[in-house]
Parts: sequence; structure tokens; C-alpha cells
Amino acid sequence: MPPKQRRIAILGFRSVGKSSLTIQFVENQFVDSYEPTIENTFTKTVKSRGQEYQVTLVDTAGQDEYSIFPTQYSMDIHGYVLVYSIVDPRSLEVVQIIYDKLLDMTGKVNVPMVLVGNKKDLHAERKISQDQGRKLADSWKAVFLEASAKHNDSVTDVFNAILGQIEKADGGAQGQ
Ligand code: GDP
Repeated sequence: MPPKQRRIAILGFRSVGKSSLTIQFVENQFVDSYEPTIENTFTKTVKSRGQEYQVTLVDTAGQDEYSIFPTQYSMDIHGYVLVYSIVDPRSLEVVQIIYDKLLDMTGKVNVPMVLVGNKKDLHAERKISQDQGRKLADSWKAVFLEASAKHNDSVTDVFNAILGQIEKADGGAQGQ
């Protein structure tokens, strides 16, 4: 059976670790440099729950409250990974704004979505509790995970979770 094609967009405020999570997942490395992304696309073939997927990750330029959401992000995307940083409260506010815009645009109630609190390795600088993140995700009926791109902690789980959410949303029947 050919792998199922899945396009996943990584959204969130700048500097929360969208590129780092993507690169850790695709290339198994952490590059400790800060270069704001315009938009990059990565592809990786993975097996999840016995199914092969060709995953395309759209690592977006960061959004903020003033961003106009590019319509292409509402069209050929199967699922969304929304990222904030546990050390940056503004990034949690921004992720809520992104969520609202996303729902307005897609018009769907159940959009496959995973909320990620990244940089969980920065214990001493934590500003957002796990509970705060989980409550927000619950209110969206999204999966919630904390992760560290730096330590490769729960990064695979993030992408397995979004693939699982996509399967759930379409009953496993979405096109190849
Ligand atoms: P983006 O703008 O959201 O794509 O964020 P980047 O991936 O470029 O990361 C922004 C900065 O945060 C960089 O300096 C990264 O090295 C750092 N960073 C990303 N993920 C982590 C993490 O899990 N832990 C820590 N300590 N730093 C991280």
C-alpha cells in the first residue's frame, strides 16, 4: 500500500521552536541558532500505528495577533500543530488568536489539532503551567503535549498525535 500523504502546518508565535521541532523530527538534530523562517517545507516518510505516511511539514513564518492568516493554510492542510513556549506567556495568547482565526477560516468544528508547550527543558524559566496548557487544549478538544525540541523529548509523540487526530477526524478514509 502506498504511504498516505499528510500535510501538516506548524503554527505559533515567533521563536517558540517551530523550526526546531520540525528539524528535530525530520533530521534528528537540534540546531541552536535563531533564524526566523519565512516558510520551509520538509518531507519525511514515517510509520505510525502500522501505517506508512509521507508527511509534509509546513514550517511557517511565525504569526502574531496582527497577522493576516494566509488562506493557503486553510486549504490543503490535514492537521495543525500549534506551538507556544512555556517560558513566553505572550506565545500562549498568540496561539489562542491563531486558533480563532483558523476556525473562522476553515469553518470546521473539528480540525485535527495538537497544542504543544515547547521548551519544557527550561524548568527554571517556566511561566506557563502544564495545567494552563492542558485546559486550553481541552477547550479546543485538541491533544496536549509538552515537548523539548532541544532534548528531543516528546517530539515524535507530537507528530504521532497529529497523525492520529487526522485519522480520527476522517475515520481513516482520507485520500492516499
Ligand atoms: P521558531 O521561530 O518558532 O521557528 O523558533 P526556532 O526553532 O527558530 O527557535 C527559537 C529559539 O529557541 C532558538 O534559539 C532555539 O535554539 C530555541 N529553542 C527551540 N526549541 C527549544 C527547546 O526545546 N528548548 C530550548 N531551551 N530552546 C529551544
